[in-house]
Amino acid sequence: MVNVSHPVTLIPGDGIGPEVADATVRAVNATGVSIDWQRADLNASIITKAGQVLPPHVIESIERTRVGLKGPVTTPIGGGFTSVNVALRKQFDLYANVRPVHSLPGLKTRFSDTVIDMVIFRENTEDLYSGLEHEVVKDVVTSLKVITRTASIRIAEYAFNFANKSGRKKVAAIHKANIMKLADGLFLRCCREVAARHPDIEYKELIVDNASMQLVIRPETFDILLLPNLYGDIVSDLAAGLVGGLGVVPGANMGDQAAVFEAVHGSAPDIAGKGVANPTALMLSAALMLIHLGEHDAARRLRSAIERTYSERKRLPPDVGGISTTHDFTDAVIANLG
Ligand code: NAD
Repeated sequence: MVNVSHPVTLIPGDGIGPEVADATVRAVNATGVSIDWQRADLNASIITKAGQVLPPHVIESIERTRVGLKGPVTTPIGGGFTSVNVALRKQFDLYANVRPVHSLPGLKTRFSDTVIDMVIFRENTEDLYSGLEHEVVKDVVTSLKVITRTASIRIAEYAFNFANKSGRKKVAAIHKANIMKLADGLFLRCCREVAARHPDIEYKELIVDNASMQLVIRPETFDILLLPNLYGDIVSDLAAGLVGGLGVVPGANMGDQAAVFEAVHGSAPDIAGKGVANPTALMLSAALMLIHLGEHDAARRLRSAIERTYSERKRLPPDVGGISTTHDFTDAVIANLG
């Protein structure tokens, strides 16, 4: 392959964000792929000063590069500015949230004896995340759940197309159409319509409460999961818990014009600045980014190096049972790149 330099917007975020971002940049650079990292700082004080969740320097950078690698940004709870992630998804119409959930070799979890290998496709732009809430009268609040045909068809197409490309065989659409007959009913009709265009892929439907139980008792039976926004958010954290937690699961927010890759965990203020944050989730997100950039060999090497580091069990960070620092773990991953 011709050695081109890929422009990428790097948003380290705050809390442990800059620590895991530095570690990830070191590991990606060590694969030999040339990335032109364009750093865009973003944290609570920048947001407050700018008076907007996405200040112009962040928007302009992603408009230029069309690819972002993002660490967590602290979001105030129950008030204050809105979530940076939701704003990014809306701004760049990043409609597909993709989370591959795989067991890591050597990582002891409650499900270590089960091979878990699923990919979650969560609609990323609407549902109860439309932000349409209001107080009807004092102490009575409504939140609007918005489901559209356009958004439901495109996330379903995205999931089925991925199944075709990756050789996966089963898609499960997850819903609560027995209660939300109109909203989830529309989502399901769209999933069925797309499923009918992909007869080679086995399609089934599960009510979200049952799906949550099935995920815990037989996670190995799941392949591709297709969900509207809120169920996708909750179920993907549940699935992360099956393979070791948020610290080891990557994420991608995909649109037609841009893509932002991010760790799913938050800014972990309890361990920020201590040098012990686990950068695995952001490194695995960077491996997804490398695939998106067409750097398949580097992506495979980075993923294998992370897996080897877990199998060896010698230099792991504290959240996964080790005693190593972020820096030591990253050195081990780099040494395993081979
Ligand atoms: P969190 O994910 O930050 O932390 C939950 C627990 O997991 C903590 O004990 C933390 O130490 C641990 N943890 C998380 N990531 C870790 C890592 N990489 N290595 C080791 N341990 C890790 O969740 P929270 O405490 O609910 O949220 C803190 C802040 O992050 C909040 O302001 C929240 O809004 C924000 N947040 C941001 C994003 C994002 O930007 N993508 C996502 C989730 C939460």
